[in-house]
Amino acid sequence: MKKILLIIAVMMLAINVFAAKNVILMIGDGMGINSVKMTNYYTGKELVFQKFDTKCFATTYSVNAKSYDSNKAWKDASKNIPNWEYLSSCTDSAAAATALNSGLKTLNGVVNRSPEGKLYITLAQVLKKLGYSIGDVTTVRWNDATPSGVYAHSMARGSNEITYEMINSKVANVLSGAGTPVYDGYGNKRETPVYDMIPKDLWDDLQNGKKDYKVIETKKDINVLASSKNPKGNYLLSVPSSGDLAYTKVPEFADPKASKDLPTLAEISLAAVNVVKENPKGFYLMIEGGSIDHANHANNAKECINQTISFNEAVSAMVDWVNKNSNWEDTVIIVTADHETGQLANSNGTYYVGNNGKSKMPDYKYNSNGHSNIPVPVFVKGDFGKNILKYANNTDPVLGKYIDNTDITKFMGEFYGVEMPVKLK
Ligand SMILES: [Zn+2]
Repeated sequence: MKKILLIIAVMMLAINVFAAKNVILMIGDGMGINSVKMTNYYTGKELVFQKFDTKCFATTYSVNAKSYDSNKAWKDASKNIPNWEYLSSCTDSAAAATALNSGLKTLNGVVNRSPEGKLYITLAQVLKKLGYSIGDVTTVRWNDATPSGVYAHSMARGSNEITYEMINSKVANVLSGAGTPVYDGYGNKRETPVYDMIPKDLWDDLQNGKKDYKVIETKKDINVLASSKNPKGNYLLSVPSSGDLAYTKVPEFADPKASKDLPTLAEISLAAVNVVKENPKGFYLMIEGGSIDHANHANNAKECINQTISFNEAVSAMVDWVNKNSNWEDTVIIVTADHETGQLANSNGTYYVGNNGKSKMPDYKYNSNGHSNIPVPVFVKGDFGKNILKYANNTDPVLGKYIDNTDITKFMGEFYGVEMPVKLK
């Protein structure tokens, strides 16, 4: 009897110690609540993440924007009329990615360094040291601001310093996004390579297998990786496009120039999760729908809907993956945005876009082609998810309860038992 009890005790300890911990952080770049609502209204369906149990908003300001004051944010809160002039001072994707990954604020354009240049340590860096696997996925260039924020450092987003660090530090077990010198922004093959996104020496080393990353470049091979049984090693999924994955979900919005052979965000996310899931300790996987931001910068509402559908399909694929391969005790999915883009609102001057029915463009108006400081929605799924609400100590008169984007980092750290932010040296 004693022996049986001892065995049970050891087993329970083992379950406790060896329970995997996984966070899938999904960022719709530039996806304010109105990008979500427009897609919801156009498709006539709630997006997968709108059904998540835990919801709030998050402020996104950087050191440049200083703060978010809900008293100044609305010209008339009782009528939902935003004060866009006040809301124009805002973050960029680099400072927002820094906040989300390090739990610390910085200047626009800076990746994981303080305004004075001190190094910020990111959650992914800490987790890597603790033995977790790391995945970093986007629809835009894999060295763009949001994916580089997972573990790279620089005073200048988009610099070669970041590209080298992302490969040479080997923090990511899987790194994925657009960006090969041999394809153009639409995914069509170039006659001569253009090395504007990745230095030639680094690209050559990757191609020649000198960098510890297996390079996968086709939709077919990405799908093979997604279904392979036990993938070993590190992977760079460098999708054949130099810019966005310009595939389309809504046929009437299709860009005729876009290659039909581009993988979807759902496909590359499934390949990435299949790599990081090999680690019994668990993983941290960041997945960005980066092209929502580009659509909103261009004030292209149809492309915004298109890209948000694609992002939602990736969320759906990850929810299904958890249901089949993990559980909601071990895994948390967070869906949010790094900032709002386009000052998207209703054409009547109020904030929320209007519903004109399924397959009809909603009532909307863009008020700028830049970002804004309006808080973004946060949706969390998983048993641990409700813990994020302990940070929701503020209430906006229109949006409701909100946290700060650095609270998302603290929340994720808590789930892993890691205190974020890491103190500066
Ligand atoms: Zn942007």
